[in-house]
Amino acid sequence: MARIMRGACLLLGLAGLWSTTGPLPVGAHDPEVGPAPTATPQPVLTATVVALQPKVSAPQVALAPRASGADTTLVRRAAMGESLDSIAQQTGFSLRELATRNRVAGVTMLTIGQALQLPAPVKENIKLVRVSESDTMVSLAAQYNVAPGALALANLLPCGDCIVPGQVIRVPLLNATSSLPAPFEDIQVSPLYPSAGDVVTVRVRTSVAPKVLVGEFDGRPLRFVREANDYVAIIGLPPSQVAGSVPVLVHLTDSTDIVSTAGSLFPVGPSGYVTANVTVGSDLLALLQPLVNDLEALDLANIYAGWSEPQRWTGPFHLPNNDEITGYYGSFRTYNGGIYQGYHSGMDVRAWTGTPSRAAAPGRVVVVKRFAVRGLTVIVDHGRGVYTAYCHNSEVLVKEGDEVATGDILAKSGTTGRSEGPHIHFELAVGGAQVEPLPWLAQTLP
Ligand SMILES: [Zn+2]
Repeated sequence: MARIMRGACLLLGLAGLWSTTGPLPVGAHDPEVGPAPTATPQPVLTATVVALQPKVSAPQVALAPRASGADTTLVRRAAMGESLDSIAQQTGFSLRELATRNRVAGVTMLTIGQALQLPAPVKENIKLVRVSESDTMVSLAAQYNVAPGALALANLLPCGDCIVPGQVIRVPLLNATSSLPAPFEDIQVSPLYPSAGDVVTVRVRTSVAPKVLVGEFDGRPLRFVREANDYVAIIGLPPSQVAGSVPVLVHLTDSTDIVSTAGSLFPVGPSGYVTANVTVGSDLLALLQPLVNDLEALDLANIYAGWSEPQRWTGPFHLPNNDEITGYYGSFRTYNGGIYQGYHSGMDVRAWTGTPSRAAAPGRVVVVKRFAVRGLTVIVDHGRGVYTAYCHNSEVLVKEGDEVATGDILAKSGTTGRSEGPHIHFELAVGGAQVEPLPWLAQTLP
């Protein structure tokens, strides 16, 4: 399974902290691991010191596509959903001419931002419009402010009102900005050069109300919600996401059951995560078995693939407590010299055993479960495919189905599962993938 994230959680010494506080004497309570305030003795910390850093932002690549404004009279950059065919129809150049000139014959999807050389400055600007039940040539001409005769000429129509519902016609405009297939009016995918851990927003505007609007991002489902005049989907890129181009498709079914599809290739950048080695004590070696991790990842993937509406959060998310962050999302971890490896699927927050683990945002408790690696875990559904998970707890204080508000106490922290000391492993999943939580803590997303 490609999307399995071998997210594991293990509290570790933070190199920067060690340099400021100095390593602790053997036998002292390691502040990273936490004291042993309860009767249960804490496991001995294996003193592996690794550099834990937040994701390094990917370098700005000169080839990163520009959304707009980069066209010259002889260069046309493909927007999301445009095809060579639709650009040919809009600009008035032949498909064969464009394909030959740009060596893209046989290409089914253009890459967003891809530069296409034009043989000459554009003389025509055509908008492709699908005729609805109520449209007439006169109403369309009025709607787009063109002469009915020009409309008939642009479509080589044999008579003045020879259009039928569902037909796509060419409307000559002074300034058409895209050649999206009707009834798509605008599709924005942002950010334009994301990498692992980022959340991509797909915003669609259509000229007719969709009966069904669905999509796919790299083969994973896009689910849209209505926001004013737009339909908006959010989807996370997992920590294992590799750089390259991924297909993005949007399918609209209109009231007459005609399906229109717009698609493009979408560039994804390199993640730039650091690699860290982790040493696990002998008592936890069984939890490094790939099968144990794969089964847990599958279990989580099924949970995170869920969906509910409406969106429950209205502001930034909060950390489950206010203690120190000791591990960041996305670092590539090799365990005990390489017997197991995987990406860190969340962030770690120090938490003494027994201290509260609080809800990051409003939502509904959907899972209370003891996982092999994540230990005693609470998962909260925030709507719109967004979930948070709170792991390694010693005791859970809520039950599945409970509604919670931001800051409500879900559990008491602990060190259950694959953990070398008490802390909260905190995960945020969007559209089925664990993502970098930090941006969600700093601002209201999407
Ligand atoms: Zn963790």
